[in-house]
Amino acid sequence: MNTLYSEPIGKRGNHTTMTKWLVFLEQREGIVKQSSIDAWNRVQELAALLPGTVVYGLLPGPASIGQLEGRLAGKGVIYQAGEERLRLYNPQHYMRLVADTLTKEDASTLFFADTALSRDLAPRLSVRLQASLLSGCPTLDDTWPDDGGCRRPVYSGSVIASFLPLRPLRIYTTSSRPTHSAAPFDASSGAHIAFVALEPYAITGEALFPLVRQLAMHKGTTDVAEAGIVIAGGRGMGGQEGFALLEELARTLGGAVGASRPVVDEGWRPHAEQIGQTGKTVAPLLYIACAISGSPQHLAGMGSAGTVVAINRDPHAPIFDVADYGIVGDVHIVLPKLLEALQEFLQKK
Ligand SMILES: Cc1cc2nc3c(=O)[nH]c(=O)nc-3n(C[C@H](O)[C@H](O)[C@H](O)COP(=O)(O)OP(=O)(O)OC[C@H]3O[C@@H](n4cnc5c(N)ncnc54)[C@H](O)[C@@H]3O)c2cc1C
Repeated sequence: MNTLYSEPIGKRGNHTTMTKWLVFLEQREGIVKQSSIDAWNRVQELAALLPGTVVYGLLPGPASIGQLEGRLAGKGVIYQAGEERLRLYNPQHYMRLVADTLTKEDASTLFFADTALSRDLAPRLSVRLQASLLSGCPTLDDTWPDDGGCRRPVYSGSVIASFLPLRPLRIYTTSSRPTHSAAPFDASSGAHIAFVALEPYAITGEALFPLVRQLAMHKGTTDVAEAGIVIAGGRGMGGQEGFALLEELARTLGGAVGASRPVVDEGWRPHAEQIGQTGKTVAPLLYIACAISGSPQHLAGMGSAGTVVAINRDPHAPIFDVADYGIVGDVHIVLPKLLEALQEFLQKK
């Protein structure tokens, strides 16, 4: 057992000392990310098991509090630093803000949702604050190990590795479990969350990290990492035009389109839609994989999906090993029929 822990986590029932946790809430264009809301709610679930745990939140950038109504569970205080200059991610400003809030509250643990931003910010913070960083932890529920460690797949899912924090201050980035979980923590009842606006803080000198470029999503499109339903297409879609069917299916089901890497390399779809080891990690309730073989690198990005449906003309495609439902057939024949049946079903509803 490691002796460097200042506050052992997980001594359920006899956890008497007060433990303070901070959850980072990320906004983009004023919209708080669903993955951050999920992270907050999961941390609250865990905190409810550990008496004496107080949860704080930090929301940098302007975002309306109204959008969070009824979506956040548990008890706690959320600090909002609503300054316009924090709208866009800037490592220098964000690092300072998080570090100051951690110090102010004397929090011992910092949680992020696993996003592109946190993959940049969390390592920087761990160096600056000399904290243990445990990234991409899939389990932050009641199976979270008592020692504060986490297990996660490495080498594209071929090995499960255990990681233990060695420093008193821990930073976790939590990878998702199925988005909008079927049995979510009840966010509506008993929640008591206070929002506190932080004073604008003095930024001395120019930002050292200039904004290189910002990519805006098309209005009305859902970020694939945030979507509850993902319709993903692979090389077997045959080209850019093949994705029109997937877009229609996504519109019909209220989901987002995703892609495998060759699709992005070919320029058929933008990199923002790539799922996998070198793309985004998604955890939708429903994942429909169309003409995707199911390489380990692709599975690394969708292994936490809820129900997986695979459509592939090769009955031996590895994607069928992880699929709950499989359709062996040509996507160009199966998809129009599926779409038609769905539209008919939805019309009758
Ligand atoms: C370091 C590294 C990182 C990588 N990162 C990623 C990543 O992030 N994401 C990722 O996806 N890949 C990644 N890859 C690539 C990965 O190894 C695979 O090459 C890739 O996932 C294969 O994509 P695919 O399934 O679309 O294509 P393919 O492997 O070519 O599979 C196409 C599938 O479509 C089926 N098919 C063809 N036509 C039809 C049809 N008409 N109807 C139905 N089925 C059809 C075929 O049977 C086949 O199974 C990475 C590779 C490396 C080395």
